[in-house]
Amino acid sequence: MATALYALAGLLWITFSDRVVEALVTDSATLSRVQTWKGVFFVLVTALVLFLTLLRLLVRDRALLRLQHQQSLALRTRERQLTVLMDSLPGMAYRCRYDDHGTMLFVSEGCVALTGYEPEELMGSRAVSYQDLLEPESYERLLCDIREGLANEAPYSVEYALTRKDGETIWVWERGRAIRGGEGETLLEGIVLDISDRKRLRDELEEMATRDPLTGLLNRREMSRVLDEELERARRYQRPMAMLWIDFDHFKEVNDTYGHAAGDAVLQSVAALLVDSVRTVDSVGRFGGEEFVIVMPEMEMSEARETAERLRRHVSATPQPLGDGNVVALTISVGVAVYPDHGVTGSALCAAADRAMYRAKAAGRNCVALAQMPEDVHTD
Ligand code: GH3
Ligand code: MG
Ligand code: MG
Repeated sequence: MATALYALAGLLWITFSDRVVEALVTDSATLSRVQTWKGVFFVLVTALVLFLTLLRLLVRDRALLRLQHQQSLALRTRERQLTVLMDSLPGMAYRCRYDDHGTMLFVSEGCVALTGYEPEELMGSRAVSYQDLLEPESYERLLCDIREGLANEAPYSVEYALTRKDGETIWVWERGRAIRGGEGETLLEGIVLDISDRKRLRDELEEMATRDPLTGLLNRREMSRVLDEELERARRYQRPMAMLWIDFDHFKEVNDTYGHAAGDAVLQSVAALLVDSVRTVDSVGRFGGEEFVIVMPEMEMSEARETAERLRRHVSATPQPLGDGNVVALTISVGVAVYPDHGVTGSALCAAADRAMYRAKAAGRNCVALAQMPEDVHTD
Protein backbone atom coordinates (compact mmCIF):
# COMPACT_ATOMS: atom_id res chain seq x y z
CA MET A 1 0.00 0.00 0.00
CA ALA A 2 2.73 2.43 1.06
CA THR A 3 4.80 1.42 -1.97
CA ALA A 4 1.85 2.11 -4.31
CA LEU A 5 1.26 5.53 -2.75
CA TYR A 6 4.96 6.38 -3.06
CA ALA A 7 5.03 5.26 -6.71
CA LEU A 8 1.91 7.33 -7.50
CA ALA A 9 3.29 10.44 -5.76
CA GLY A 10 6.65 9.99 -7.56
CA LEU A 11 4.98 9.64 -10.96
CA LEU A 12 2.75 12.71 -10.35
CA TRP A 13 5.80 14.71 -9.20
CA ILE A 14 7.90 13.69 -12.22
CA THR A 15 5.01 14.31 -14.64
CA PHE A 16 3.65 17.61 -13.34
CA SER A 17 6.55 19.33 -11.54
CA ASP A 18 8.47 19.78 -14.85
CA ARG A 19 5.44 21.31 -16.53
CA VAL A 20 4.79 23.67 -13.62
CA VAL A 21 8.44 24.74 -13.44
CA GLU A 22 8.60 25.24 -17.23
CA ALA A 23 5.45 27.33 -17.09
CA LEU A 24 6.75 29.52 -14.26
CA VAL A 25 10.45 29.82 -15.18
CA THR A 26 11.43 30.92 -18.68
CA ASP A 27 15.10 31.70 -18.10
CA SER A 28 17.08 28.56 -19.05
CA ALA A 29 19.89 29.04 -16.46
CA THR A 30 17.35 29.47 -13.62
CA LEU A 31 15.33 26.58 -15.04
CA SER A 32 18.41 24.33 -14.90
CA ARG A 33 19.08 25.32 -11.22
CA VAL A 34 15.44 24.78 -10.29
CA GLN A 35 15.59 21.36 -12.00
CA THR A 36 18.69 20.45 -9.96
CA TRP A 37 17.04 21.55 -6.63
CA LYS A 38 13.92 19.67 -7.66
CA GLY A 39 16.04 16.52 -8.13
CA VAL A 40 17.75 17.10 -4.79
CA PHE A 41 14.33 17.59 -3.15
CA PHE A 42 13.07 14.33 -4.74
CA VAL A 43 16.11 12.39 -3.50
CA LEU A 44 15.72 13.88 0.04
CA VAL A 45 12.00 13.04 0.16
CA THR A 46 12.74 9.51 -1.12
CA ALA A 47 15.49 9.06 1.50
CA LEU A 48 13.14 10.33 4.23
CA VAL A 49 10.36 7.96 3.12
CA LEU A 50 12.85 5.06 2.99
CA PHE A 51 14.22 5.98 6.42
CA LEU A 52 10.74 6.17 7.99
CA THR A 53 9.71 2.90 6.38
CA LEU A 54 12.84 1.08 7.58
CA LEU A 55 12.49 2.62 11.04
CA ARG A 56 8.91 1.37 11.25
CA LEU A 57 9.97 -2.13 10.19
CA LEU A 58 12.82 -2.10 12.67
CA VAL A 59 10.56 -1.05 15.57
CA ARG A 60 8.02 -3.72 14.63
CA ASP A 61 10.71 -6.43 14.36
CA ARG A 62 12.15 -5.46 17.72
CA ALA A 63 8.70 -5.69 19.33
CA LEU A 64 8.20 -9.10 17.68
CA LEU A 65 11.61 -10.31 18.83
CA ARG A 66 10.90 -9.17 22.39
CA LEU A 67 7.55 -10.98 22.33
CA GLN A 68 9.20 -14.14 20.99
CA HIS A 69 11.86 -13.97 23.68
CA GLN A 70 9.23 -13.54 26.40
CA GLN A 71 7.23 -16.44 24.99
CA SER A 72 10.22 -18.78 24.82
CA LEU A 73 11.16 -17.77 28.39
CA ALA A 74 7.62 -18.54 29.56
CA LEU A 75 7.72 -21.86 27.67
CA ARG A 76 11.04 -22.82 29.22
CA THR A 77 9.75 -21.90 32.70
CA ARG A 78 6.62 -24.03 32.11
CA GLU A 79 8.70 -26.94 30.86
CA ARG A 80 10.96 -26.68 33.89
CA GLN A 81 7.95 -26.55 36.21
CA LEU A 82 6.41 -29.55 34.45
CA THR A 83 9.65 -31.55 34.69
CA VAL A 84 10.01 -30.69 38.40
CA LEU A 85 6.36 -31.62 38.93
CA MET A 86 6.67 -34.91 37.05
CA ASP A 87 9.93 -35.86 38.74
CA SER A 88 8.48 -35.17 42.18
CA LEU A 89 5.34 -37.16 41.41
CA PRO A 90 5.26 -40.58 42.99
CA GLY A 91 5.63 -43.21 40.26
CA MET A 92 6.24 -42.70 36.57
CA ALA A 93 4.46 -40.38 34.17
CA TYR A 94 4.46 -41.56 30.55
CA ARG A 95 3.38 -40.90 27.00
CA CYS A 96 3.39 -43.88 24.70
CA ARG A 97 2.20 -45.13 21.33
CA TYR A 98 -0.99 -47.14 21.20
CA ASP A 99 0.83 -50.10 19.63
CA ASP A 100 1.51 -53.77 20.40
CA HIS A 101 4.54 -53.08 22.59
CA GLY A 102 3.50 -49.93 24.45
CA THR A 103 6.43 -48.04 22.87
CA MET A 104 7.29 -45.22 25.28
CA LEU A 105 7.82 -41.79 23.73
CA PHE A 106 8.42 -40.13 27.09
CA VAL A 107 8.83 -41.36 30.66
CA SER A 108 9.58 -39.23 33.72
CA GLU A 109 12.59 -39.76 36.01
CA GLY A 110 10.35 -41.83 38.31
CA CYS A 111 10.96 -44.64 35.80
CA VAL A 112 14.23 -45.55 37.57
CA ALA A 113 12.67 -45.99 41.01
CA LEU A 114 9.68 -47.85 39.58
CA THR A 115 11.22 -50.19 37.00
CA GLY A 116 14.96 -50.02 37.64
CA TYR A 117 15.48 -48.92 34.00
CA GLU A 118 16.78 -45.49 32.93
CA PRO A 119 14.22 -43.46 30.94
CA GLU A 120 16.51 -43.72 27.89
CA GLU A 121 16.40 -47.52 28.05
CA LEU A 122 12.62 -47.59 28.00
CA MET A 123 11.95 -44.72 25.59
CA GLY A 124 11.59 -45.96 22.03
CA SER A 125 11.89 -49.51 23.50
CA ARG A 126 15.66 -49.13 23.13
CA ALA A 127 16.68 -51.70 25.76
CA VAL A 128 13.32 -53.09 26.74
CA SER A 129 9.69 -52.46 25.80
CA TYR A 130 7.02 -51.82 28.41
CA GLN A 131 5.29 -55.01 27.27
CA ASP A 132 8.43 -57.00 28.31
CA LEU A 133 7.93 -55.91 31.94
CA LEU A 134 4.49 -57.54 32.17
CA GLU A 135 3.26 -61.12 32.16
CA PRO A 136 1.40 -61.79 28.87
CA GLU A 137 -1.97 -62.12 30.67
CA SER A 138 -1.41 -58.85 32.56
CA TYR A 139 -0.52 -57.08 29.31
CA GLU A 140 -3.62 -58.50 27.61
CA ARG A 141 -5.76 -57.26 30.50
CA LEU A 142 -4.12 -53.83 30.33
CA LEU A 143 -4.79 -53.62 26.57
CA CYS A 144 -8.36 -54.74 27.16
CA ASP A 145 -8.95 -51.95 29.73
CA ILE A 146 -7.31 -49.41 27.42
CA ARG A 147 -9.56 -50.52 24.54
CA GLU A 148 -12.59 -50.16 26.79
CA GLY A 149 -11.45 -46.70 27.92
CA LEU A 150 -10.94 -45.67 24.29
CA ALA A 151 -14.37 -46.95 23.28
CA ASN A 152 -16.04 -45.00 26.11
CA GLU A 153 -13.74 -41.99 25.67
CA ALA A 154 -12.98 -42.35 29.37
CA PRO A 155 -9.75 -42.72 31.36
CA TYR A 156 -8.66 -46.29 32.12
CA SER A 157 -7.20 -47.60 35.36
CA VAL A 158 -5.84 -51.05 35.99
CA GLU A 159 -3.72 -52.97 38.52
CA TYR A 160 -1.09 -55.48 37.47
CA ALA A 161 2.23 -57.05 38.43
CA LEU A 162 5.38 -55.66 36.82
CA THR A 163 8.87 -57.24 36.75
CA ARG A 164 11.64 -54.78 37.55
CA LYS A 165 15.12 -54.82 36.00
CA ASP A 166 16.47 -56.59 39.12
CA GLY A 167 13.87 -59.35 38.64
CA GLU A 168 11.72 -58.25 41.59
CA THR A 169 7.97 -58.28 40.97
CA ILE A 170 6.01 -55.27 42.16
CA TRP A 171 2.31 -54.38 41.98
CA VAL A 172 1.41 -51.20 40.17
CA TRP A 173 -1.68 -49.13 39.52
CA GLU A 174 -1.91 -47.37 36.18
CA ARG A 175 -4.27 -44.59 35.18
CA GLY A 176 -4.22 -43.04 31.76
CA ARG A 177 -6.18 -41.73 28.84
CA ALA A 178 -5.92 -41.50 25.09
CA ILE A 179 -4.88 -38.28 23.36
CA ARG A 180 -4.47 -37.29 19.70
CA GLY A 181 -0.84 -36.85 18.71
CA GLY A 182 0.47 -34.20 16.30
CA GLU A 183 -0.14 -36.34 13.21
CA GLY A 184 -3.55 -37.59 14.30
CA GLU A 185 -1.92 -40.70 15.84
CA THR A 186 -3.54 -42.07 19.04
CA LEU A 187 -1.19 -41.75 22.01
CA LEU A 188 -1.65 -42.77 25.63
CA GLU A 189 -0.72 -40.56 28.56
CA GLY A 190 -0.83 -41.42 32.22
CA ILE A 191 0.89 -42.40 35.41
CA VAL A 192 2.05 -45.71 36.93
CA LEU A 193 2.31 -46.00 40.73
CA ASP A 194 3.95 -48.67 42.89
CA ILE A 195 1.18 -50.03 45.14
CA SER A 196 3.05 -53.11 46.45
CA ASP A 197 2.80 -52.02 50.11
CA ARG A 198 -0.88 -51.17 49.80
CA LYS A 199 -1.55 -54.46 47.98
CA ARG A 200 0.34 -56.48 50.61
CA LEU A 201 -1.69 -54.77 53.36
CA ARG A 202 -4.93 -55.39 51.47
CA ASP A 203 -4.03 -59.07 50.93
CA GLU A 204 -3.17 -59.40 54.61
CA LEU A 205 -6.48 -57.83 55.61
CA GLU A 206 -8.31 -60.10 53.20
CA GLU A 207 -6.41 -63.07 54.60
CA MET A 208 -7.29 -61.98 58.13
CA ALA A 209 -10.94 -61.63 57.16
CA THR A 210 -11.12 -65.12 55.64
CA ARG A 211 -8.64 -67.20 57.67
CA ASP A 212 -8.56 -68.60 61.17
CA PRO A 213 -5.38 -67.15 62.74
CA LEU A 214 -4.53 -70.26 64.79
CA THR A 215 -4.76 -72.96 62.12
CA GLY A 216 -4.62 -70.92 58.89
CA LEU A 217 -7.79 -72.70 57.74
CA LEU A 218 -10.79 -70.85 56.31
CA ASN A 219 -12.82 -69.22 59.08
CA ARG A 220 -16.52 -69.77 59.71
CA ARG A 221 -17.68 -66.85 57.59
CA GLU A 222 -15.53 -67.77 54.59
CA MET A 223 -16.46 -71.41 54.97
CA SER A 224 -20.17 -70.50 54.86
CA ARG A 225 -19.50 -68.49 51.70
CA VAL A 226 -17.63 -71.40 50.10
CA LEU A 227 -20.42 -73.79 51.07
CA ASP A 228 -23.07 -71.54 49.46
CA GLU A 229 -20.92 -71.15 46.35
CA GLU A 230 -20.37 -74.91 45.99
CA LEU A 231 -24.06 -75.59 46.62
CA GLU A 232 -24.96 -73.12 43.89
CA ARG A 233 -22.59 -74.88 41.49
CA ALA A 234 -23.91 -78.34 42.48
CA ARG A 235 -27.48 -77.10 41.91
CA ARG A 236 -26.67 -75.56 38.54
CA TYR A 237 -24.86 -78.62 37.16
CA GLN A 238 -27.00 -81.11 39.12
CA ARG A 239 -23.97 -82.65 40.76
CA PRO A 240 -23.62 -84.16 44.25
CA MET A 241 -21.65 -82.43 47.02
CA ALA A 242 -20.70 -83.62 50.48
CA MET A 243 -19.76 -82.03 53.77
CA LEU A 244 -18.06 -83.45 56.86
CA TRP A 245 -18.62 -82.07 60.36
CA ILE A 246 -15.72 -82.98 62.64
CA ASP A 247 -15.44 -82.60 66.42
CA PHE A 248 -12.49 -83.74 68.55
CA ASP A 249 -13.31 -86.32 71.20
CA HIS A 250 -12.73 -85.32 74.83
CA PHE A 251 -10.64 -82.39 73.74
CA LYS A 252 -11.33 -80.57 76.98
CA GLU A 253 -9.24 -83.26 78.70
CA VAL A 254 -6.25 -82.42 76.47
CA ASN A 255 -6.51 -78.80 77.58
CA ASP A 256 -7.05 -79.73 81.21
CA THR A 257 -4.15 -82.20 81.25
CA TYR A 258 -1.52 -80.50 79.10
CA GLY A 259 -2.61 -76.86 79.08
CA HIS A 260 -4.21 -74.54 76.55
CA ALA A 261 -1.00 -74.03 74.53
CA ALA A 262 -0.65 -77.78 74.04
CA GLY A 263 -4.34 -77.87 72.98
CA ASP A 264 -3.54 -75.15 70.40
CA ALA A 265 -0.62 -77.21 69.06
CA VAL A 266 -2.94 -80.21 68.64
CA LEU A 267 -5.52 -78.02 66.84
CA GLN A 268 -2.81 -76.84 64.44
CA SER A 269 -1.44 -80.29 63.78
CA VAL A 270 -4.85 -81.90 63.16
CA ALA A 271 -5.78 -78.97 60.88
CA ALA A 272 -2.65 -79.61 58.78
CA LEU A 273 -3.36 -83.34 58.75
CA LEU A 274 -6.91 -82.75 57.47
CA VAL A 275 -5.72 -80.39 54.71
CA ASP A 276 -3.06 -82.90 53.62
CA SER A 277 -5.57 -85.75 53.54
CA VAL A 278 -8.18 -84.25 51.20
CA ARG A 279 -8.21 -83.24 47.53
CA THR A 280 -7.11 -79.75 46.48
CA VAL A 281 -10.69 -78.97 45.36
CA ASP A 282 -11.96 -79.63 48.90
CA SER A 283 -12.18 -76.74 51.37
CA VAL A 284 -11.28 -77.22 55.02
CA GLY A 285 -12.46 -74.69 57.60
CA ARG A 286 -12.51 -74.21 61.32
CA PHE A 287 -16.07 -73.51 62.33
CA GLY A 288 -15.10 -72.64 65.90
CA GLY A 289 -13.52 -74.30 68.96
CA GLU A 290 -12.42 -77.77 67.90
CA GLU A 291 -15.08 -78.14 65.24
CA PHE A 292 -13.94 -78.44 61.63
CA VAL A 293 -15.95 -78.57 58.43
CA ILE A 294 -14.85 -79.98 55.06
CA VAL A 295 -16.77 -79.16 51.88
CA MET A 296 -16.20 -81.70 49.10
CA PRO A 297 -17.59 -80.85 45.66
CA GLU A 298 -18.53 -83.62 43.21
CA MET A 299 -18.74 -86.25 45.95
CA GLU A 300 -21.64 -88.57 46.57
CA MET A 301 -22.65 -90.45 49.69
CA SER A 302 -20.54 -93.64 49.66
CA GLU A 303 -17.35 -91.83 48.67
CA ALA A 304 -17.99 -89.16 51.34
CA ARG A 305 -18.47 -91.82 54.00
CA GLU A 306 -15.23 -93.56 52.91
CA THR A 307 -13.35 -90.25 53.04
CA ALA A 308 -14.69 -89.54 56.56
CA GLU A 309 -13.72 -93.04 57.66
CA ARG A 310 -10.23 -92.61 56.18
CA LEU A 311 -9.77 -89.29 58.03
CA ARG A 312 -11.04 -90.78 61.29
CA ARG A 313 -8.60 -93.71 61.03
CA HIS A 314 -5.75 -91.41 60.04
CA VAL A 315 -6.27 -89.11 63.06
CA SER A 316 -6.64 -91.96 65.54
CA ALA A 317 -3.48 -93.61 64.15
CA THR A 318 -1.43 -90.39 64.35
CA PRO A 319 -0.21 -89.25 67.78
CA GLN A 320 -0.57 -85.46 67.92
CA PRO A 321 2.40 -83.31 68.99
CA LEU A 322 1.81 -81.12 72.05
CA GLY A 323 4.53 -78.66 71.09
CA ASP A 324 6.87 -79.70 73.93
CA GLY A 325 8.22 -82.83 72.27
CA ASN A 326 5.46 -85.04 73.70
CA VAL A 327 2.49 -86.43 71.82
CA VAL A 328 -1.09 -87.33 72.68
CA ALA A 329 -3.53 -89.76 71.13
CA LEU A 330 -6.63 -88.09 69.75
CA THR A 331 -9.79 -89.28 68.04
CA ILE A 332 -12.50 -87.47 66.12
CA SER A 333 -16.21 -87.95 65.57
CA VAL A 334 -17.45 -87.18 62.07
CA GLY A 335 -20.92 -86.41 60.71
CA VAL A 336 -21.47 -86.76 56.94
CA ALA A 337 -24.19 -84.95 54.97
CA VAL A 338 -24.65 -84.97 51.20
CA TYR A 339 -26.42 -82.62 48.80
CA PRO A 340 -29.16 -83.07 47.73
CA ASP A 341 -30.04 -86.16 49.83
CA HIS A 342 -29.75 -84.59 53.30
CA GLY A 343 -30.54 -80.97 52.52
CA VAL A 344 -30.50 -78.45 49.69
CA THR A 345 -29.50 -75.29 51.58
CA GLY A 346 -26.30 -74.51 53.44
CA SER A 347 -28.02 -74.28 56.81
CA ALA A 348 -29.99 -77.52 56.26
CA LEU A 349 -26.81 -79.40 55.29
CA CYS A 350 -24.86 -77.99 58.26
CA ALA A 351 -27.66 -78.93 60.65
CA ALA A 352 -27.84 -82.46 59.17
CA ALA A 353 -24.05 -82.96 59.39
CA ASP A 354 -23.95 -81.54 62.94
CA ARG A 355 -26.75 -83.91 64.06
CA ALA A 356 -24.91 -86.84 62.42
CA MET A 357 -21.74 -85.87 64.32
CA TYR A 358 -23.70 -86.00 67.63
CA ARG A 359 -24.96 -89.44 66.66
CA ALA A 360 -21.31 -90.48 66.13
CA LYS A 361 -20.54 -89.17 69.65
CA ALA A 362 -23.52 -91.06 71.03
CA ALA A 363 -22.29 -94.21 69.28
CA GLY A 364 -19.15 -94.12 71.43
CA ARG A 365 -16.97 -91.45 69.70
CA ASN A 366 -14.12 -92.16 67.21
CA CYS A 367 -16.99 -92.86 64.80
CA VAL A 368 -18.43 -91.73 61.47
CA ALA A 369 -22.20 -91.26 61.14
CA LEU A 370 -24.15 -90.53 58.01
CA ALA A 371 -26.89 -87.90 58.22
CA GLN A 372 -30.42 -89.22 58.21
CA MET A 373 -32.78 -88.61 55.33
CA PRO A 374 -35.18 -85.72 56.09
CA GLU A 375 -38.16 -88.11 56.39
CA ASP A 376 -36.14 -90.35 58.79
CA VAL A 377 -35.36 -87.30 60.92
CA HIS A 378 -39.04 -86.44 60.82
CA THR A 379 -39.98 -89.83 62.25
CA ASP A 380 -37.11 -89.82 64.77
P1 GH3 B 1 -16.66 -84.24 73.22
O1 GH3 B 1 -16.04 -85.53 72.94
O2 GH3 B 1 -18.04 -84.36 73.78
O3 GH3 B 1 -16.65 -83.31 72.07
O4 GH3 B 1 -15.79 -83.59 74.37
P2 GH3 B 1 -14.99 -82.25 74.35
O5 GH3 B 1 -14.15 -82.19 75.54
O6 GH3 B 1 -14.27 -82.12 73.06
O7 GH3 B 1 -16.18 -81.26 74.46
P3 GH3 B 1 -16.49 -80.00 73.63
O8 GH3 B 1 -16.39 -80.31 72.20
O9 GH3 B 1 -17.81 -79.46 74.10
O10 GH3 B 1 -15.36 -78.99 74.12
C1 GH3 B 1 -14.55 -78.35 73.29
C2 GH3 B 1 -13.31 -77.92 74.02
O11 GH3 B 1 -12.39 -77.39 73.11
C3 GH3 B 1 -13.56 -76.81 75.01
C4 GH3 B 1 -12.35 -75.96 74.96
O12 GH3 B 1 -11.56 -76.17 76.11
C5 GH3 B 1 -11.59 -76.47 73.78
N1 GH3 B 1 -11.29 -75.39 72.86
C6 GH3 B 1 -12.12 -74.69 72.09
N2 GH3 B 1 -11.42 -73.77 71.36
C7 GH3 B 1 -10.12 -73.92 71.71
C8 GH3 B 1 -8.92 -73.26 71.29
O13 GH3 B 1 -8.89 -72.35 70.46
N3 GH3 B 1 -7.75 -73.69 71.84
C9 GH3 B 1 -7.72 -74.68 72.77
N4 GH3 B 1 -6.55 -75.05 73.26
N5 GH3 B 1 -8.85 -75.30 73.17
C10 GH3 B 1 -10.02 -74.95 72.65
MG1 MG C 1 -15.25 -82.09 71.24
MG1 MG D 1 -16.96 -79.20 70.25
